[in-house]
Amino acid sequence: MSSGLNDLYQQLILDHNKSPRNFRKIEKATHNAEGYNPLCGDHFTVFIEMDGDVIKDVSFQGSGCAISKASASMMTTAVKGTKKEEAEKLFEKFRSVVTRDIHKEVDDLEELGCLGALAGVAEFPARIKCASLAWHALHSALNSNGAVVSTENANAH
Ligand code: ZN
Repeated sequence: MSSGLNDLYQQLILDHNKSPRNFRKIEKATHNAEGYNPLCGDHFTVFIEMDGDVIKDVSFQGSGCAISKASASMMTTAVKGTKKEEAEKLFEKFRSVVTRDIHKEVDDLEELGCLGALAGVAEFPARIKCASLAWHALHSALNSNGAVVSTENANAH
């Protein structure tokens, strides 16, 4: 990855951390779930308003490190307006990019758009949980509404 792209990605992460998108509670949420990453202290609640099988609105609240917050912000912008199964596929793709060698995942990376900014965490194993937290919470909200998920729980892998 060129350093120019790295700079761009870093700016994206900083921007999402400073001005997180969809950082609010959805009063008429149909689904929600809490996600904890005890190793870093990240703690977010994800809210979803479903319309049939479409994610009509999605938001998050809570606090955590820059990576976890930026990732949660990017996650909400990426899945808003998609169908549940599309969001789950994106989660799978995102997970494979942040847990594997980024240089082997160039195609996936391009498909991910700005989510690809987080691919760099693959080089920092402790940060993978930060980057994945909001996605795990989204997955839980979609599949077991009201759940509390921890990155240290076997179900979170
Ligand atoms: Zn973190």
